[in-house]
Amino acid sequence: MEIQKYSIGTGDRFGLQGKAQLEAIKKAAQHGVDLTIVWNKSHREHTIVGTGQQEVREEADSAVKELNWSRQYLVDADHIGMDNVESFLKSSDFFTIDVADFIGKRADDQSLERFIDHYSSYIGELSIQGMEQPTIVDAELLSAIAEKYLLATIEAGKIYHHIAQQKGDGAFVTEVSMDETIEPQTPVELFFILAALADAKIPVQTIAPKFSGRFNKGVDYIGNVEQFSQEFEEDLLVINHAVNLFNLPQNLKLSVHSGSDKFSIYPHINRLIQKYGAGIHIKTAGTTWLEELIGLAEAGGDGLDLAKRIYQAAYERYDELCSPYQSVIDIDRQALPEPSEVQGWTSQQYVSALRHDLSCPDYDVNLRQLLHVGYKVAAEMGDEYLNALKKHERIVARNVSENLFKRHINPLFLS
Ligand SMILES: [Zn+2]
Repeated sequence: MEIQKYSIGTGDRFGLQGKAQLEAIKKAAQHGVDLTIVWNKSHREHTIVGTGQQEVREEADSAVKELNWSRQYLVDADHIGMDNVESFLKSSDFFTIDVADFIGKRADDQSLERFIDHYSSYIGELSIQGMEQPTIVDAELLSAIAEKYLLATIEAGKIYHHIAQQKGDGAFVTEVSMDETIEPQTPVELFFILAALADAKIPVQTIAPKFSGRFNKGVDYIGNVEQFSQEFEEDLLVINHAVNLFNLPQNLKLSVHSGSDKFSIYPHINRLIQKYGAGIHIKTAGTTWLEELIGLAEAGGDGLDLAKRIYQAAYERYDELCSPYQSVIDIDRQALPEPSEVQGWTSQQYVSALRHDLSCPDYDVNLRQLLHVGYKVAAEMGDEYLNALKKHERIVARNVSENLFKRHINPLFLS
């Protein structure tokens, strides 16, 4: 099973927007962009919402059937590890193997020695096709990379082979993710990580490194855009080079996690994938839940009322809701509007505070991030929340589709 060149991860926390998401992908197809839609959900999301991967599979299959979609679609076991992969095996055909927790832990001496020995031939000037300057690799750098990353790649191998044993080789798409860590991986680190993944016999099709800068949930990229762009370009060149050298799948591509709403880097990603004819996978999961809230607020009446109650509860449960996401949000707590103030807002006020429109002076980056991590509140409302989504389905679906198409697919693949 090979993933297409361009793909987009559209997780859906509450499982009701599959069709609206697929509508955006269909629209991309009408504009000549062939995009694989990947419904992803992590163990963390399943736990908070109280769902299982089977429900993601059912949602995907039924959206595809109802909209007569005949092109590729996948269901992603997002950020799995050995301890939770079991419950994802049956219903997934894309596995994001997350080994970030093993970064910085040392592999056994024998494995380290073997790796360093094998790749010591790269000590000296490493010339990557397309890069102006060769990278200097000395013994110290090689062993530092091995000590930092080898164990993570070995662990990825264990998980991959466990999945392959159950599902069969080639029956699924494999991603390896290292994004949930503090330090970004440099292009030369990526080069040796790919070597190690090839040694572990993982047919990796997408790799999610940690890039420089902050990829906070649901908001724009924070960091040096030029630096990101240079790093991204070098990563593309490294992948190109490594694929042939280490015999990795020809379609291996970068995966950008927390990729939703990173508007300031989209033009760079777009330009660079065009320049090199490279593929890309962008995960945009959490943004759909915010569009549900926008739709409810826009509907007014009971919808707006529910959206306000969710904000109030999220505000009151700030610490609890933010703590699992501490490393991927930056909220100025003092700047958050008081729930009593929000209580008096019109539909228009709520929508303009929440919608990610950087040209709108009322857009509130703090409120948006708090609501982003506040989906637990809606999950606890159970049927009340789900029924509101069903009641206001049309308006919610329009927001979900438009957000994906206009603010994500368009700048990434069409402009
Ligand atoms: Zn991730």
